[in-house]
Amino acid sequence: MLCPDERSARRPKRLLTQNRRLRPLGIFTWTLPALAGRFPDGTTYVTCRNAGVCSQACYALNGTYRIPGVLARHQRNLQFVLGDLDGWKAAMLAELNHSRYRHAWIRIHDSGDFLSLEYLRAWLEIMRSRPSTRFYCYTKEVSLFRTEVEPDPPDNFWWVYSLGGKQDHLLGDGDRVADVFPDEESIAAAGWNSQAASDLLAVLGPAPVGIRANNIARFRAVQAGRRWSEWQAQTDAARRAKLARHRNNSVERGEAVTEPRADTVATPDDPAPELTGRATGERAIQCPDSL
Ligand code: SF4
Repeated sequence: MLCPDERSARRPKRLLTQNRRLRPLGIFTWTLPALAGRFPDGTTYVTCRNAGVCSQACYALNGTYRIPGVLARHQRNLQFVLGDLDGWKAAMLAELNHSRYRHAWIRIHDSGDFLSLEYLRAWLEIMRSRPSTRFYCYTKEVSLFRTEVEPDPPDNFWWVYSLGGKQDHLLGDGDRVADVFPDEESIAAAGWNSQAASDLLAVLGPAPVGIRANNIARFRAVQAGRRWSEWQAQTDAARRAKLARHRNNSVERGEAVTEPRADTVATPDDPAPELTGRATGERAIQCPDSL
């Protein structure tokens, strides 16, 4: 166990940063490591509990996000949240007192997602406590937002549900959604609205929102010209079919029908959801190391 001095020495000095893409727009970000991983001490974590096919083509499991120093910084952010949520919330509130954040935009999670109910509630308290700062996010935590955010959202919070996750099936016509398309032409052809000119269009511009896929050959290969929503729907259908076959085979053999959890059934198109119990007892997604 770390002593208090060791813990504070490992904490990030600044919680909110800017990257090359968002700095010109004046947007600050708070970032966690994407999807799942392992801390240097061997313990594991999951940050995107409802990632689906997106985990096979995630921008944040590629390039600069995987540089050891960058990943270590994002992991330090996560360790702060997991190890001392109240301390993290106090530090975020203190940082947001700075005048540079008055009327500024904060993107919650350049990568990662709302990893627990407590963490989401901490963010909601932060937003309500800093009404002159504006916050937005993409999220795949549909059911969590249905119960915790939608009934009474902070006035200074905007969000968009991003498709390609395990809870896509919960989304309907009334929801603001963003989908990843192969290119700008396919966004326009579908009658969706590109956010290429500004990330804020994802929450402020016309909906539904189209995002052009990253131009990374291996990601393009697995996406295979599909929108992430189509890819997810095909994967869900393959998983349901596999479960049905398993059930029928059990019945034919006169065996008791055991129901594996749907999200543990791998399909050729989606090996990502394999669950592994590890030392921490956390649910860990076996990352295909391809994002
Ligand atoms: S694309 Fe998927 S895996 Fe990547 S950060 Fe977003 S939710 Fe997580």
